[in-house]
Amino acid sequence: MSVVGFDFGNESCIVAVARQRGIDVVLNDESKRETPAIVCFGEKQRFIGTAGAASSMMNPKNSISQIKRLIGRQFSDPELQRDIKSLPFNVTEGPDGYPLIHARYLGEMRTFTPTQVLGMVFSNLKSIAEQNLKAAVVDCCIGIPVYFTELQRRAVLDAATIAGLHPLRLIHETTATALAYGIYKTDLPENDQLNVAFVDIGHASMQVCIAGFKKGQLKILAHSFHRSLGGRDFDEVLFHHFSAKFKEEYKIDVSQNARACLRLRAACEKLKKVLSANPEAPLNIECLMDEKDVRGFIKREEFEQISAPILQCVKAPLEKALADAGLAVGDVHMVEVIGSASRIPSILKILTEFFGKEPRRTMNASECVGRGCALQCAILSPTFKVREFQVNESFPFPISLSWKGSVPDAQNGGAEQEQLVFPKGNPIPSVKAVTFHKTSTFSVDVQYSDVSDLQAPAKISTYTIGPFPTLRSEKPKLKVKVRLNLHGIVSVDSATLLEEEEVEVLVSKELAKEDAKMETDEKPNDTSAPGANETDVNMQDAKGTAEAAGVENGVPQSGDKPVQMETDTKVEAPKKKVKKTNVPVAELVYGAMLSGDLQKAVEKEFEMALQDRVMEETKDKKNAVEAYVYDMRNKLCDKYHDFVTASDKEELMAKLQETEDWLYEDGEDETKGVYIAKLEELKKQGDPIEERYKEYSERGTIIDQLAYCI
Ligand code: ATP
Ligand code: MG
Repeated sequence: MSVVGFDFGNESCIVAVARQRGIDVVLNDESKRETPAIVCFGEKQRFIGTAGAASSMMNPKNSISQIKRLIGRQFSDPELQRDIKSLPFNVTEGPDGYPLIHARYLGEMRTFTPTQVLGMVFSNLKSIAEQNLKAAVVDCCIGIPVYFTELQRRAVLDAATIAGLHPLRLIHETTATALAYGIYKTDLPENDQLNVAFVDIGHASMQVCIAGFKKGQLKILAHSFHRSLGGRDFDEVLFHHFSAKFKEEYKIDVSQNARACLRLRAACEKLKKVLSANPEAPLNIECLMDEKDVRGFIKREEFEQISAPILQCVKAPLEKALADAGLAVGDVHMVEVIGSASRIPSILKILTEFFGKEPRRTMNASECVGRGCALQCAILSPTFKVREFQVNESFPFPISLSWKGSVPDAQNGGAEQEQLVFPKGNPIPSVKAVTFHKTSTFSVDVQYSDVSDLQAPAKISTYTIGPFPTLRSEKPKLKVKVRLNLHGIVSVDSATLLEEEEVEVLVSKELAKEDAKMETDEKPNDTSAPGANETDVNMQDAKGTAEAAGVENGVPQSGDKPVQMETDTKVEAPKKKVKKTNVPVAELVYGAMLSGDLQKAVEKEFEMALQDRVMEETKDKKNAVEAYVYDMRNKLCDKYHDFVTASDKEELMAKLQETEDWLYEDGEDETKGVYIAKLEELKKQGDPIEERYKEYSERGTIIDQLAYCI
């Protein structure tokens, strides 16, 4: 079983694998540790990752990047609207209200969903891991931002499915970092708690988490974030600064030219990095637009001035994390910065002032998330024995259930009821049992109780529970299990109708014990991770007939014992019997891919991957023809010289020349089969010469060896 961690960034991705001796970040085809998160659509194939980045400058309109910003978001989302403004490719609203990406692929315009494109990025990362491990990769852990909504989390899982991956867990990036930080520490205190703040400022967003470490465990005390504050905002500030300048000085409007925009943005990003290490930096771009070369220059001070509005936003998430963790600044023992945008000196200054101590950079900022993901995968997978280390994760959003009460109301058919099920900071994973008193099919909505932190509609999903079997009791209880799973996805798992009946049954003592055991054994499926807990929540329905609403922590309800009818009894006793019947639950998640569509997307990805492979093989075969031409030509003049007649040589040389010309003209763009045939045709003439030479040189070696023996 594969043990792999993927960190998919807005810009670049990291693939980490677990081996017996530890975690390794693996290299891609170009021997780089970071792989760009880009898919470039071409006339004949796709180019993904490093190959995609290489083609993107030539083909900006069909190079899809920043996918992490697009998945699982509605088209009307103001943040998405802002994001797509600076993208070189076209994004429109699909019929379902979600974005569609347009690209020219295989000679025609096509549309793709962001989930599909993320699936392509994942396929590429998967193949990097597979090449390295020389084995199939399926099981993995994927890092996600803590602020990802239910829909975004589901989209990541769908994209993983499209790529043929099976994530054991989607883990919050900052938690992965905390894990990578803590697991190797040998000096963690037994009783006291070491509080560490992790501040990740990446390409597009900022995340903060405060984790408390003790020997063998970490507990997330608080998560906070700013969804749109990252390195790219500084690029944008520089971009606007210089485009205004160039408009004035050179009379060019880069916003009118996609390629010029891309080049200026890239130059601004470079400039920003130079400014992290130098007090000033130049910007020169040749032939930016209208055949004009441009020159610019900026001092760090001016850069800080123009980026003041962004810098002002850095403090709020820090304050929030402290408040949510219930800590004072002095309680934070250490601050670790990660994410490459935190290299900007003015950001470091803000962090130092806020925490009253110098932030440290002991983690490898670009690799720690990927490493943490691989470690989490190793903990969850039976393949490796990992040091005992518990990750007690907390969920960043409060989740509630809402439903219509059963008393009909003139206007809306019943008053709306709402009950908080998972408060903010609830451990992940977690299962809660909610008891309803209903007699016919009803629906419950799963929703965010507070959307102030979120850019998402409150309503997540609707579950229709029913139909009910013929009811025997008047006051049936309906136990609904709500699960917050390891990925941070909420769902209604099951519904059970509990009907009390007072009947005389024969119960043996042993069986009664068995019943009790069954009840306590009923743990959530996700117990592989620590922190799984089950709690009962009693829902009061509009009639007011139910028990008082509230959370009962893990208290089993009276009379909830499963019925056990088969007895070979010795003891006779009257017993209150509870009949348990499963009630169907139908799920509707707003905006999520339907399983049929997902299946289609899997097939489509397979087709596109096949096309890519055919094209790669075609290129290889074409290269083989070219290499043969050069190699044979050299050899004919050199070591094969004595093994070929002058006329044969002349004939083959002419043929080689003809092939070379063909490769650059008519044969430039042929199918794999044509190149294979071409090579065979050349070899038919070349092989006999090669044979004669080989025979001779082998004989020569034998004679040499014989001579040596004598
Ligand atoms: P995200 O975490 O937002 O999904 P990511 O993980 O790809 O994205 P990182 O690799 O952590 O992001 O950070 C990338 C950002 O850091 C880019 O904006 C890049 O320009 C910026 N950056 C990289 N090196 C430096 C540097 N030396 N100084 C300033 N900024 C830098
Ligand atoms: Mg990152």
